[in-house]
Amino acid sequence: MITNKQSGYKYIFGPVPSRRLGLSLGIDLMPAKTCSLNCVYCECGKTTHLTITRDEYIPTEDIKRELKDYLNKGPRLDFVTFSGFGEPTLHSGIGEIILFLKSDYPQYRIALLTNSTLFYQDKTIKQVLAADVIIASLDAVSSPVFNKINRPHPDLKPDALIRGLVELRKEFKNQLWAEVFLLPDINTNDSELKKIKIALDRIMPDKVQLNTIDRPGTESWVKAVEKKDMTRIESYLTKAETISYGKQEQSDNKNIQNYTLQIISAIKRRPCTVEDVSRILGITVPKAQECLETLVCQKKVSKTKMPRGIFYLAKLS
Ligand code: SF4
Repeated sequence: MITNKQSGYKYIFGPVPSRRLGLSLGIDLMPAKTCSLNCVYCECGKTTHLTITRDEYIPTEDIKRELKDYLNKGPRLDFVTFSGFGEPTLHSGIGEIILFLKSDYPQYRIALLTNSTLFYQDKTIKQVLAADVIIASLDAVSSPVFNKINRPHPDLKPDALIRGLVELRKEFKNQLWAEVFLLPDINTNDSELKKIKIALDRIMPDKVQLNTIDRPGTESWVKAVEKKDMTRIESYLTKAETISYGKQEQSDNKNIQNYTLQIISAIKRRPCTVEDVSRILGITVPKAQECLETLVCQKKVSKTKMPRGIFYLAKLS
């Protein structure tokens, strides 16, 4: 059984290589798997606690203590990122944690990955204004498509989500990137795309990032959008780009004694390829492969084939 204690920290993980943010230390504010949505493409499995109630799900002081312990060592990072097992803005202490990072560790940029569902509350917007980058999802505008892809809490409606993003844009002066997760024939048809374009043009993000599945999601029927369709949609939407691997940082970690624990810590939140693991640890691809295959033999890790290659998943229990 893999427990959080094996990775040393309970609420922070990585650093992991992120396609958009470089080398990123993850902060997980939510217990698995608490979210306001239950997206069919979620990499963290099915939502078991579907809620829109904001609360201090994990003691804010415990999270700050872990951050202090890690960041006091002065690690080389591109970002400290709120992401993980659920929607970070559900945590009522997110504002306090962002301000703590800004005052005590101003050298680190802060990113927030959010499903955008709670910005209809002005209080949520106020708490995230000090972030450097907010990557906010908008996958659908019409209710049937929103329900099919995002399977929201029953009180959530796409209109309120879009209004919340418009309000966020008015107040948030740093980088706002909208992310659209595309699923073939569900939100890639002309009708839904037109609605998405109109909504995005109202929100006016600094850029629009298009994503499609390239690692195992919650539902096995979810398939990737073909490259030619991604290209077509990229040209259609304003300021859109398809997410791709940029320059990746190598981990500065010279001591790989703990690489097994680091691998487990990373892949239990997000399935990874051998190349991902190689970047996370700053070790060679053959070394990462050897370690992953050892963990597969020990039945701590499983693997699955996807169009982008073999992905390794931690066996959570
Ligand atoms: S993808 Fe994000 S918003 Fe959707 S269910 Fe998973 S954690 Fe929640």
